[in-house]
Amino acid sequence: MTDREEPSAEQQLTCPSAPAEVGARVLSVRSPEGVAEYLVTDLRVTPDFLEALSAVPNVDGRFRFASSCVGSACAQWQDGRCSVPSKSAEVIAQLPSDADLPRCSIRASCRWFAQEGKTVCLTCPLITRTDGALSPA
Ligand code: SF4
Repeated sequence: MTDREEPSAEQQLTCPSAPAEVGARVLSVRSPEGVAEYLVTDLRVTPDFLEALSAVPNVDGRFRFASSCVGSACAQWQDGRCSVPSKSAEVIAQLPSDADLPRCSIRASCRWFAQEGKTVCLTCPLITRTDGALSPA
């Protein structure tokens, strides 16, 4: 893409399981009871926050971060799409059919929602990011 080209809608999608890095958005925080609470405010990782996170054990188990989808530069990218939503589909059968969707602030641009719709939102709170791989909590 040249400087004069606008990014496509595809390129503007947001990854809901991005690394903890400066500028990333805090998507959710897991409570001591293990429940993922989604933030409705646009809280960004600052250098000081990143420094504080370095002292937190199991950051990937406690937090989820959102940032721009990097597409084919990501290890989870397969066959022109993110492979994580389809991997989580097997978890759906374990969920109650009347489960509510998380009150999520990035749905309009979420890569996973764009690919799979609301079904992936039902499994989203169960997913953690660990060492670049994703696995149900
Ligand atoms: S709840 Fe749905 S829209 Fe929100 S981050 Fe998870 S998959 Fe994306």
